[in-house]
Amino acid sequence: MLISEMSRQECCDLLARLGFGRLACAYENQPYIVPTYFAYEPEHLYGFATLGQKIEWMRLNPLVCLEADEVRSHVQWASVVVRGCYEELPEKPGYDSKMRQQAEVLLRKRFMWWQTGVAAAQTREQSNRGIPVFYCIHIEKVTGHRASRDRRPYRDRTSRATVPGVVTA
Ligand SMILES: Cc1cc2nc3c(=O)[nH]c(=O)nc-3n(C[C@H](O)[C@H](O)[C@H](O)COP(=O)(O)OP(=O)(O)OC[C@H]3O[C@@H](n4cnc5c(N)ncnc54)[C@H](O)[C@@H]3O)c2cc1C
Repeated sequence: MLISEMSRQECCDLLARLGFGRLACAYENQPYIVPTYFAYEPEHLYGFATLGQKIEWMRLNPLVCLEADEVRSHVQWASVVVRGCYEELPEKPGYDSKMRQQAEVLLRKRFMWWQTGVAAAQTREQSNRGIPVFYCIHIEKVTGHRASRDRRPYRDRTSRATVPGVVTA
């Protein structure tokens, strides 16, 4: 297997195409990660949720990470990691209404875009947790790795197995 770095453009193209990943946040040294849909535009990811643990934690600590991947096989995959900063987009005076509108426009492109966020409230105890939240993640850093089948003759490969007794594919 050969692993190469993806260009920023390749990372962005993958994010735009997938629209689904795993959003990680942390509070008091405890990481928390959930699968989520998002909409991509250059420099931003947009999401929709209802008020629950991840929103509460991102409010307390806006530094987040998102991973998205496309796995074709064990040796053919691409994975992108975004580091960014959470910003809530409430519909209130004083907040950037253009960004909120942009979030809605982009998220609405996916059929039933609101469903998973709303459905998540079903498992929560408090009745007021169906409160809708639009948010943005400002992309600060993005990296991508892509794996492909190594077609070079075995003798030419530099990355031989380092674990004794284990031979790489
Ligand atoms: C394909 C897919 C797409 C999704 N898209 C969205 C989306 O766009 N927006 C959205 O808000 N949600 C989405 N979800 C649901 C999301 O993964 C969370 O389950 C949901 O948002 C609730 O998260 P919360 O932090 O508010 O948890 P809460 O409702 O506050 O729940 C608290 C506890 O429940 C547990 N829990 C919560 N979520 C999960 C989970 N997914 N798996 C296992 N345990 C869990 C955790 O232990 C957590 O401590 C999606 C899920 C899937 C599988």
